[in-house]
Amino acid sequence: MTILTKTNNAKRAGKFLNLLKPRDIFFHDGSTLRRVRIGTGIQAGASFALLLLFLWAAAATVQLALAASAPLNPQISRIQHDVEAMQADVAAMKAVAAKRYELTAAEMKKLGLEPTRFHGGQAYTGSGGPLELVEPARAEDPNFKALFMSWKKLDQIEQGTIAIPSTVPVHGTNFTSGFGVRSDPFKGRAAMHAGIDLAGPLNTPIYATADGTVDRAEWNTGGYGNLVEIDHGRGIQTRYGHLTRYIVAAGDHVKRGQLIAYMGSTGRSTGSHLHYEVRIDGKPVNPVPFLQSSDYLQSVQRRAETQVALGGPVKSE
Ligand SMILES: [Zn+2]
Repeated sequence: MTILTKTNNAKRAGKFLNLLKPRDIFFHDGSTLRRVRIGTGIQAGASFALLLLFLWAAAATVQLALAASAPLNPQISRIQHDVEAMQADVAAMKAVAAKRYELTAAEMKKLGLEPTRFHGGQAYTGSGGPLELVEPARAEDPNFKALFMSWKKLDQIEQGTIAIPSTVPVHGTNFTSGFGVRSDPFKGRAAMHAGIDLAGPLNTPIYATADGTVDRAEWNTGGYGNLVEIDHGRGIQTRYGHLTRYIVAAGDHVKRGQLIAYMGSTGRSTGSHLHYEVRIDGKPVNPVPFLQSSDYLQSVQRRAETQVALGGPVKSE
């Protein structure tokens, strides 16, 4: 068997060497006939080079074919799969952020507030949401950057909702007078009513309708009687007039729903009631839509308040 193989191999090698035996090539250069001899070594080298070239081309072809059908390395295919899944996640998160932004912006517009009022986050700069930590490390990746920007924008608008008065300042009261032009009970002629009147028994508790800082709690000579004014930031204020007494002082920070005063009939008042105002950039607006804030807005506010609580103290303007 071995001898037979050896013999066969020797025969084949002999045949191969025979193919590569020195060859003479004759050519005529115009004047004389020339002979060039090509040795076995050169022929073998050339054959080997050709063989390598052929194998390399074949390998490349096979690789291309494999890459087209099934990837060579299962690790590479796993990474590719992970990257695709991550890109899908990024797209989904961006879509969620966009949807939530859109809903919150729509709630603000219902109240006559432009969402841009809440961008930039002056009131809450430095409070530090968890998203802010992500920015420097991922900023170079355009996908992450876009995702970060949409979530930052969402974070700002949602944080901004904290400034929006959205609860009732008193419970179980009668709505007695609306916002706008009405017949003035004192002058007997048409006058602008800058807020709404909510009537109830003397000493009915009165609550702040949004987080903010008390910027006055004092006697007002202009007709409000005992007046509390709260600055909620973002150019939004509320006023509470005709109070029997107040239990907050200028500079106090108050939370939404916090007890601040008791109902009365001080100042230009004909009976126990709360005069309630919402002001935007110093101008009184109709408070009624703010009293009817949606569950959606209130849930956003609760979430934003939780985030502020986690991120640090609220810095009011
Ligand atoms: Zn009033």
